[in-house]
Amino acid sequence: MENTSKLRAELRDFEARFAEVQETLNAIRSGEVDAIVSSGPGGGQIFTLRGAETPYRILVEEMNQGALMLIPDGTILYANTRFAALSKTPLEQVIGSSWQKFFPRDKYPQLATSLKTKKPVDTPEELSLQAADGSFCPVQLSVRSTSTSGVVGFSVIITDLTERKQSEKALRKTSDELLEKNEQLKAFSYSISHDMRAPLRAMQNFAKLLLNEYADKLEPEPRSYLEQIASSATQLDRLINDVLADSQLSRDQTEASTFNLCKMVGEMVENYPNLREANIEIVASSARVWGYEVALGQCISNLLGNALKFVPVGRVPCVKVWTEPTNGKLRLWVQDNGIGILPKDREKIFDIFSRVNGNEAYEGTGIGLSMVKKAVEKMGGRVGVESEIGHGSRFWIELECA
Ligand code: ADP
Repeated sequence: MENTSKLRAELRDFEARFAEVQETLNAIRSGEVDAIVSSGPGGGQIFTLRGAETPYRILVEEMNQGALMLIPDGTILYANTRFAALSKTPLEQVIGSSWQKFFPRDKYPQLATSLKTKKPVDTPEELSLQAADGSFCPVQLSVRSTSTSGVVGFSVIITDLTERKQSEKALRKTSDELLEKNEQLKAFSYSISHDMRAPLRAMQNFAKLLLNEYADKLEPEPRSYLEQIASSATQLDRLINDVLADSQLSRDQTEASTFNLCKMVGEMVENYPNLREANIEIVASSARVWGYEVALGQCISNLLGNALKFVPVGRVPCVKVWTEPTNGKLRLWVQDNGIGILPKDREKIFDIFSRVNGNEAYEGTGIGLSMVKKAVEKMGGRVGVESEIGHGSRFWIELECA
């Protein structure tokens, strides 16, 4: 009796386990499961099902990159069809051959070393893949070390760079052409500006001559017309001067050198009578910066010129210049006691032809500060301004210390 109930219990247990196995098999068939864990005396073990690898196989076969599996002596264990196409070699001839057969031009030391030392190579490198017909194709490799069932190897992904190289070449050609056109345009605008000066000076001088010699013979109306011609000619002359200075800046091809900025300011003040007579205090310093002489000269003359120019009528201009180490660079400060600049204008005054509304009484072209910014940026530096409306401004340029 006891035996019968024991047998019944065992039968129920078998039936339950059989149902479980049946359920698992159904799930495998329907693709719901791609791995199973089997418990045994040594603990759980994972078995990957063959069907589950199919998507990965398809992925590797269909991808647009070549794929290789190498063993440490460089023998190719596996290659996808894309690699066979890239190397124009039948797949069965690729498998079993050495990777060096396809990369004879490149020693690729990292890969060679890593094949020897069994260490992975993470940096993608550009190499030339030689095809069976002798042609070369630029490729990029990405190598990872892999270990399957205890066998150390390498997976190599090969990306064809032919199209990228062609677009880069086309881009380089277009950019070279653009640079050349730009140079021609600069030379053209330089010569036009330069040649405009002589007839303009003649207009200016004849208008002044008429005003000086015949002013009393002229009615007020024609005299005011003549005055307008003379002042417009002067304004145009200023504009041409600034355009020429700006193109001189772009054409300057000299090597960068080191300069003592305070000393440069001092020399400029000494050399120009209008600056020498002005009230300019320079705090001497031995600090030096890297820069270009022409560019630095233009920055200093523009900043000093503006500091002396934008001052309210009746106030004596007072300028102070000093240098200060800032952000690991050297800052040159030019402080004035002028009209100041509203916060909304402090950035745009560095744009070309930008003048502040309401400052029309002060002559100018709006080119000076844009030139300062361009020159400073060419030297790898920055520009800026601090200001208090009605009390003055402090312009700065920041350059690499020498
Ligand atoms: P320009 O001096 O020929 O007008 P800039 O490019 O040198 O041209 O200056 C642009 C504008 O910035 C000036 O028209 C002026 O309104 C303002 N600005 C420049 N420097 C100063 C300054 N030191 N104080 C007040 N405003 C200034």
